[in-house]
Amino acid sequence: MNKNLKNFFYPKTFCIVGASSKEKSIGYELLKSIKEYGYTGKILPVNPKANEILGYKCYSSIEEITEPIDLAMVVVPKAFAEDSIDKLINKNVGSIILVTAGFKEVGKEGEEAEKRILEKINKAGARMVGPNCMGIITTFSEISLNATFVAEKPEIGQTAFLSQSGAIGAAILNSLRETDIRFGHFVSVGNKADISENDLLPFWQEDKQIKTITFYLESFVDGEKFINNFTDKKITKPVIVLKAGRTSSGMKAAQSHTGALGSSDRVVESVLKQFGIIRANTLNELFNSAKGFENFPLPAGNKVAVVTNAGGPAILAVDSLDKNGLKLAELSEKTKNKLREIVHPEGSVNNPVDLLPGGTAEQFKTVNEMLISDENVDAVVSVFVEPVMVPALPVIEGINDIKTKKPLLQVVMPLPEFWKNYRKNSATKKPLFRNPEDPAKVLADMLFYSNNKKGKDFLAASKSSLKTDNTGFLQPNEIEQLTKKYKLPSVNNQFIKADSVTKQISRIKFPVVVKGISKDVVHKSELNAVKVNIKNKNEFKEAIEEIKKSFAKKKIKVEEFLVQPFVKGKHEILIGGFRDPSFGPMIMFGSGGKYVEVFNDTCLKSAYLSDDDIDQMIDETKIGKILNGVRGEKPFKVSELKKIIKSSAKMMLGNPNIKEFDLNPLIITDDNSIFAVDIRIKV
Ligand code: ADP
Ligand code: MG
Repeated sequence: MNKNLKNFFYPKTFCIVGASSKEKSIGYELLKSIKEYGYTGKILPVNPKANEILGYKCYSSIEEITEPIDLAMVVVPKAFAEDSIDKLINKNVGSIILVTAGFKEVGKEGEEAEKRILEKINKAGARMVGPNCMGIITTFSEISLNATFVAEKPEIGQTAFLSQSGAIGAAILNSLRETDIRFGHFVSVGNKADISENDLLPFWQEDKQIKTITFYLESFVDGEKFINNFTDKKITKPVIVLKAGRTSSGMKAAQSHTGALGSSDRVVESVLKQFGIIRANTLNELFNSAKGFENFPLPAGNKVAVVTNAGGPAILAVDSLDKNGLKLAELSEKTKNKLREIVHPEGSVNNPVDLLPGGTAEQFKTVNEMLISDENVDAVVSVFVEPVMVPALPVIEGINDIKTKKPLLQVVMPLPEFWKNYRKNSATKKPLFRNPEDPAKVLADMLFYSNNKKGKDFLAASKSSLKTDNTGFLQPNEIEQLTKKYKLPSVNNQFIKADSVTKQISRIKFPVVVKGISKDVVHKSELNAVKVNIKNKNEFKEAIEEIKKSFAKKKIKVEEFLVQPFVKGKHEILIGGFRDPSFGPMIMFGSGGKYVEVFNDTCLKSAYLSDDDIDQMIDETKIGKILNGVRGEKPFKVSELKKIIKSSAKMMLGNPNIKEFDLNPLIITDDNSIFAVDIRIKV
């Protein structure tokens, strides 16, 4: 494990540059939280004016400290920040947290200062968290460090949490007594000048005390690097990402917030899914699922039993199961018979099982046991709404005591006094969920994780093969090189100079398609420049004239005519790709032709494809379903299509200079052949 990274979370000596004796100042509150939380290492506060603060001996300067510093936190005003960094580097400090704000997030000058600091850090081989952040926490008892100015006492857990927003981080810390979130490591990374999710993802994978990795992100510093941790199969722990900035206005907010560049949400959505990374939509979902992974076994399947003492919440729970792709389990007859002996005749022994408001602690426990041991059941959701006559705690504790290898999640909607009582008197302190909708997403996330854990083989990036001095769209001969190399099924293209077109007529084998070509025309059919099914010389001449005319109307010159064999098609599909600024090479498959945007039937994935991914691209689109054969139709040779998708992905991975490409359409004929009649590649 990298020593500098490790020292952020496991420091034996901790220096605070800018410790203060002024109450309510960051330098004071920070020291206070550290003291109150009982840090096990040695604290080295630096303050030129004070002899001691909160009982700790102060050093008047960094130079005055003689012992090695594992971790230093800089909270001085911005004007002194660079100087402090210099001095820490001089003292060989390898791990620095720069809390001070006023850098990249405020404009040009700040950005330059941040760059200077980063250069120094890099040159020294040190690592830095921040600037513009709120600190770090390790709850594990060998360290017990709360180096934030939020004087809460977080409980020990096995989740690691990275927050790109300091405010979100602080809000989470302030909510701990309410939400019962537990974590092992917490870090606010601020501007991510140096340390980002790309450092902490592999670090936490390696740290044996961490079980689940969670991120609140407003941007990915390098999405491709992030996902390469997964394509290289380095990550086996559950990773949950809450990515803010979904809508375009949200995106703008994210940009101005930390000066970070966001990437478009569709790319994020598809990439996370492809690599088995869980996406949370809200903070509530993020921590609910983290609690799920930390406290419950993984479900083996998607069949869920629900038990309740109230109708409404159970309906909401079931709706949410459905929305998250889970199913109500079909209970076995054996279970139903046993249930009949317990459940009130007016209740229900079908899933969801209803115990009615009179359901007692014993009944809840027994019924939960029966459900969880039914072989048709993969998970149980128990919903308890506290009525006046049945106190909640014995119900909840009874269920908590059930020993099982399946997840059993409880929703509790109690009287207000309950929570304090539970925290104080629960023996297991297992997490409870507050909303009947909550457990479904938790179970779905756990199932998603275990389904993806099996591990797939992804395409790897390969050496560049395309050499071109061109920028913009590739020339026909360059395209031909690529279609040959990657076996893309192009048609015979005959390019004829506009002025010599009539002389060439005798060489044409009808029927053909004629297209007018000009640098200035990207979408030819918009200009009426594609004439299909031209059967003879006369039709050909007419087509040429018409194309010339419609170009002339727009004051564009036809440079060349492209003559292709006419392919009588049954379906038109699209395979395309582009390079996302953050996540790199992406591949798209779907319904093609002139109406791509209208049909909007495409599936997008990173070009680091596995064979499963290619299957999914086909299965998830309507055109893919049609090609797989509907209503007794003979299916298309989908294997052929899969090969083309795969080699298109290889083309993206192997040629970093390709920015975008489009095979639109690929025409599929009646006799199951496939031809790319329009290929555009941009470098
Ligand atoms: P653009 O995309 O620039 O408008 P295309 O070359 O894709 O032009 O042609 C537009 C449409 O014309 C295609 O979607 C397809 O329906 C038809 N088409 C193009 N080339 C052929 C061909 N060789 N055989 C049959 N139809 C074709
Ligand atoms: Mg086209």
